[in-house]
This record gives sequence, C-alpha cells and structure tokens, in this order.
Amino acid sequence: MGREEEYKQFDREIEAMGVRLKDADTVKVRDDVFDEVTLIALYRLVHKKLISAIGGPISTGKEANVFYGERDGQGIAIKIYRIQTANFKAMNEYLAGDRRFSSVRGTRKGLIFAWTKKEYSNLARAHEAGIPVPEPLAFDRNILLMTFLGQGEVPYPQLRNAEVEDYGAVYRQILDYVERLYREARLVHADLSEYNILYHEKPYLIDMGQAVTLDHPRASAFLVRDIKNLNRYFARHCDVPDEEEVLRTIVGTGRRGP
Ligand code: ADP
Ligand code: MN
Repeated sequence: MGREEEYKQFDREIEAMGVRLKDADTVKVRDDVFDEVTLIALYRLVHKKLISAIGGPISTGKEANVFYGERDGQGIAIKIYRIQTANFKAMNEYLAGDRRFSSVRGTRKGLIFAWTKKEYSNLARAHEAGIPVPEPLAFDRNILLMTFLGQGEVPYPQLRNAEVEDYGAVYRQILDYVERLYREARLVHADLSEYNILYHEKPYLIDMGQAVTLDHPRASAFLVRDIKNLNRYFARHCDVPDEEEVLRTIVGTGRRGP
C-alpha cells in the first residue's frame, strides 16, 4: 500500500471509530509522527473513549508534536513524542539519575515510552501540589493526553509572547510555583523558561518530561539553571533579587521547611 493509500485507510479507520479528523493539514506531519506504534496507541486511546476528535497541530518541537483534540467536547492537548527523531542521548541522562526510572534502558522506543510516563507522573505530582499545570489525563506508549490550556482551539500564549501588566507579580508567582514544586512535589522542572510557561491571567508551567526528583544527582544544578533562566528573562522587565537569594528562599530551611 502506498503512503497516500495508508493515510486514507487511517482516516477511514479512525473516522469509523467516531473520531473527526478536523484538519486534513496534518497529512504533512504524518510521516514522522504517525508511525505504526503511535497509530496503535492512538487507536487504543480512541477505543477507550479518551479521545473523541483529533484537531490541528499546535506545535512541532524538538522531541514532540502537540495537537489539539477533544474528549466529549472538552479541549485536550495530545502530545506525541516522536520515536525516530527524539534526542535519545539527552533524554537518557535525565532518566538515568531519576530513581523512578533508573532501571529503564535499552531500546529507543522503551526510552521514549518511559519519558512519556515520566511527564505524566511529573504533571500529576505538580497538579496534586496545586500548581497550575495541565492536568494529565492518560498516557499510552508515546502519547500523553492532558487538559488544554487555551481558548477555543488556540493555546494560551507562551510567556515570551504574552501581554503582562505587572511583571514583578508574575515573577513572584512563578517563584512560588518553583518553591512548591520543590517542597511539596519534590521536583525540579529543569527546563524552565519563557517558552515553557503559558500565560493567561496567571502563569502555567508546562513541558515537564525532563523534570527530575530531588534525589537526581543534578537536581541542584538544574534548579540553579532554572532560576538563572527566570532571572535573565525577568531582569529585562522588573527588579529581580540575585540568584543566590532566590535559591536560598526555595531550598532554605526557613519558616516553612521542606
Ligand atoms: P516541547 O517539548 O515540544 O517544547 P511543550 O510541552 O513545551 O513541548 O509544548 C509545545 C507547545 O504546545 C507549547 O508551547 C504550547 O503552545 C502547546 N501546548 C503544550 N501543552 C499544552 C496544553 N496542555 N494546552 C495548550 N497548549 C499546549
Ligand atoms: Mn517546551
């Protein structure tokens, strides 16, 4: 069967399951994203009624593609880690030091599946700690489903593109999230920047596949890097305390203690 034929077949099958393919445009990315393993996982999620519509692509990142989707009329984000083009080596370093996943080794596929599960559990921990993140809904193999942060089918803007009135207040809010992430969820985000924060009335942290538990040997180094990134960005817009002071507030044995 030629590729065009395969796509048509895929459309028919998935539509037969009651899913509307809302955007024929996704054909362009199917080569890379919708390999057989991914299609099977997608079928399963549809079969379990966790997905009722697959919409247009929202983002094509280094490791993953994000699509808008729906479950019973509610917006969801469908994040699909690409098995072929993901950065295998870099991912391995984050996984190896994390006790929850240190036993994962071997195949590229296995690593991507573990990574997907890791993002799911990181989001769940953050969500349970009351931090504004997408609520994780389900995962299967390399596909993660979470609540959609946006209006209609348009995601909230990344912080770097958002209109913010009071940068000082937003900065303090984000530091409060980082502190709760550290003290309550016992996690370091490890890729915090104006790209991985969405903003609408308040900031939301996203993209937590690489977040690590505090026992990861590089957890402290990742936390320092996160703070540096935040300070670099916010220093352009408001006063920021120096990094050491921020770090002490977050990890310090101050009032609230861990
Ligand atoms: P990547 O690993 O490719 O950086 P991200 O998790 O940062 O993946 O997502 C990339 C983009 O997809 C985000 O900047 C945002 O625009 C969109 N996105 C991701 N998750 C959601 C979500 N839950 N709700 C709305 N948009 C999302
Ligand atoms: Mn990102």
